[in-house]
Amino acid sequence: MGKVYLTGAGPGDIELLTVKALRVIKEADVIIYDRLANPDILQEAKNGCEFVYVGKEDSHHTLPQEEINEAIYQAALKYEVVVRLKGGDPFVFGRGGEEGIYLRERDIKFEFIPGITSAIAVPEYAGIPVTHRGITVSFRVVTGHESSNKDHSQIPWENYKTDDTIVFLMGLHRLKKITKKLIEIGKPKDHPIAVISRGTRPDEKTVVGTLENIYEKAKDLPTPALIVVGEVVKLREQLSWFENNKNK
Ligand code: SAH
Repeated sequence: MGKVYLTGAGPGDIELLTVKALRVIKEADVIIYDRLANPDILQEAKNGCEFVYVGKEDSHHTLPQEEINEAIYQAALKYEVVVRLKGGDPFVFGRGGEEGIYLRERDIKFEFIPGITSAIAVPEYAGIPVTHRGITVSFRVVTGHESSNKDHSQIPWENYKTDDTIVFLMGLHRLKKITKKLIEIGKPKDHPIAVISRGTRPDEKTVVGTLENIYEKAKDLPTPALIVVGEVVKLREQLSWFENNKNK
């Protein structure tokens, strides 16, 4: 029986992979990977390594989680080194915990390899620090995606009233609703907000606006994209670097 490495692939830029992740990728007999993991990483695998794509789209899963769990389990029965490669970090809206529990219940050995999460690294590439002395004492990372069959929001919006920085993952399709809710709980209409599309990748694009106007400015950006809300967004005026460098 093999061992499964539940591995974070980072947010996109292939160099944002950890040394440890790269080591297991080179050793892997099979790599089971997501849509959000940069496929260029697969070139690092050894000859004969099998690749299994279980791509999940932003708002819907092309493979149900149960089938992904089972695919990982079956791979562990067949191979010695199984790498389950996931975008960002496995524990940040990555369902890494569920996969680990499934394997534990079947007595399969596993390790988690943390990855650089998009929640922090993507704003960083856009020149937006999630904390900044004098501006923030906290940041919150929230899922912007909720099951569409729910009548009522599961997100406890009232709790976010006093939050400094809020990062929404999987939220682009609900941008209008998110901004409306933030205004309803008392954030000013001109509160700064940014949408960062395809962060850390060559085609990264950031759009900055206010709660009131961001939807019109950013609604058509390509995914994956995340949303950053808070005064820290203004620091981009001084700290933007990645997108500037590309234009030079
Ligand atoms: N485990 C991942 C997040 C999975 S949820 C992590 O730690 O990064 C998927 C969401 O992450 C996407 O809907 C998007 O909001 C965000 N995301 C991932 N990669 C991104 C990227 N390169 N640019 C912008 N957003 C990204």
